[in-house]
Amino acid sequence: LFSAVEMAPRDPILGLNEAFIADTRSNKVNLGVGVYFNEEGRIPLLRAVQEAEKVRLQAAAPRGYLPIEGIAAYDSAVQKLLFGSDSELLAAGRVVTTQALGGTGALKTGADFLKRLLPDATVAISNPSWENHRALFESAGFNVENYPYYDAASNGSDIKGMLEKLNSLPARSIIVLHACCHNPTGVDLSNDEWKQVLEVLQARDHVPFLDIAYQGFGDGIYEDAEAVRLFAASGMNFFVSSSFSKSFSLYGERVGALSLVTASREESARVLSQVKRVIRTNYSNPPTHGATVVASVLNSDELRAMWEAELGEMRQRIRDMRISMVDKLAALGAARDFSFVKQQRGMFSYSGLTADQVERMRAEFGIYAVGSGRICVAALNNGNLDVVTQAIAEVIR
Ligand code: PMP
Repeated sequence: LFSAVEMAPRDPILGLNEAFIADTRSNKVNLGVGVYFNEEGRIPLLRAVQEAEKVRLQAAAPRGYLPIEGIAAYDSAVQKLLFGSDSELLAAGRVVTTQALGGTGALKTGADFLKRLLPDATVAISNPSWENHRALFESAGFNVENYPYYDAASNGSDIKGMLEKLNSLPARSIIVLHACCHNPTGVDLSNDEWKQVLEVLQARDHVPFLDIAYQGFGDGIYEDAEAVRLFAASGMNFFVSSSFSKSFSLYGERVGALSLVTASREESARVLSQVKRVIRTNYSNPPTHGATVVASVLNSDELRAMWEAELGEMRQRIRDMRISMVDKLAALGAARDFSFVKQQRGMFSYSGLTADQVERMRAEFGIYAVGSGRICVAALNNGNLDVVTQAIAEVIR
């Protein structure tokens, strides 16, 4: 049965992690991962999460099955976070939300549902994008194309190329968009650019699929959902996958959600019934722990304030690291101006380092980054910033 099974290629980022663990150098630094580390270099367990967990443990509640669509209080809290508690869409019953196995699970449920709705549609993802976007939509049976997104010359967005491509795709293509904190580049669209994208999507009758995995890591919880609100106001039907892996530091608990904006309450009921079929035939129903914790935090004034403050600290620490990195590189007389790093948003930065330079960083300095030059700014701290910036200055000399 398995004799002809070929070895699948290793996940490049997880492979990098294995190499990092095997490295015996004491001053090694891992900037390859997509995880937020605190100043001490650890993944934080947020205080708001700990408080909610205490309450949950004390309640000693039975662990029955959840409904297929997950915890109702969780789903509605997610909707408010995305669309705002005063959203007209929510009041009109035009949003369907189901709990999902992280952002990845939300994308996969959405992709499987879309395959039933638009079996022959083209899917377009940004170039570059989170590497799992392509694989996820291909495994759901779609043909996946790229739209231009990043302009290496300016370290900014290639909005012109993006709009051209979106215009030239077959009508009713599915367009995957990073709502904020673009992974891997850190380059986000301005509000004006978002409006131009929306216009083309509407004109071409494309189906927007907004992926928001870093809400609160850019400019703020509310600010980072600007694109979601813009699409909500447009009257379009669209998909949103959200993830709390980073914003609650709950990576392994797999907490995410899929939201679909429909035309009416009546349509929502039909859509929900079909999304539930997709979930039922994949994993039946979601797990309890992570979503219970997130729902308790979001639905308690006290815990929510605590979470917002902690998320604010994470956001500010990343921004401080961006500034320190740029300043230190300038002070070292680095052969390049890195000030664009301050403009980037979220956990990542396309640093402009080439694959050869990244390899030298690893071989000579024990500093691990992705071959594309993506570094995780959220893995920098005041203890490793000097070695990292010295290594960068050295390899670009
Ligand atoms: N979308 C993007 C853009 C991501 O970067 C990630 C995670 N790195 C995800 C989705 C998936 O999130 P999760 O870990 O919650 O599945």
